[in-house]
Amino acid sequence: MCECVTFLDKTFVKYITSEEIDRAVARVAAEIESEYRDDDPILLITLNGAVFFAVDLIKRLDFKCRITCVKVSSYAGTESTGNIKALIGLNEDVKGKRVLILEDIVDTGHTYSHLHRMLSEAGAKDVRIATMTMKPDAYKGDLPVHYVCLNIPNRFVIGHGLDYDGYGRNLNDIYQLK
Ligand code: 5GP
Ligand code: MG
Repeated sequence: MCECVTFLDKTFVKYITSEEIDRAVARVAAEIESEYRDDDPILLITLNGAVFFAVDLIKRLDFKCRITCVKVSSYAGTESTGNIKALIGLNEDVKGKRVLILEDIVDTGHTYSHLHRMLSEAGAKDVRIATMTMKPDAYKGDLPVHYVCLNIPNRFVIGHGLDYDGYGRNLNDIYQLK
């Protein structure tokens, strides 16, 4: 039996269950908890995709922090373009603060380096990223990716916040392009 979903012209096969995601998020949450518990950090959610992961993660964090959002876009259909557009900018003072970016996926790393540069220029003391998924084979960046819940192959995925042209974010599991 194929556990498939179809949106527009593409079909996707179930790939990672929500239980596996949950276990991976719990592991990373424990690492973040011990690293940041006394630092009053800023957690920066990248809209729209990271919202689901961010809620899963933040519910497991029990320390003082501020939470804010930015929205950037680099994708057209199923391709990362490397051309980052800021759709909603940063409206929190990050000067002297530790900032932890929360991402749904790190692919080429262009978005991460863009955000890292922006936050460093704005005076952040320290910038790291926590991501639900990462494609190590697609990563072109030099920056370390500190907290990765799930490493995945270089294939397009949807679900648990990740979309294909706006569809599929509300799937609890992660699906891979067939
Ligand atoms: P990067 O700048 O690292 O190449 O890409 C980061 C952004 O591209 C992610 O935040 C996400 O919005 C989008 N992206 C990268 N790979 C995928 C994928 O496999 N599926 C979906 N739905 N979005 C992706
Ligand atoms: Mg994203």
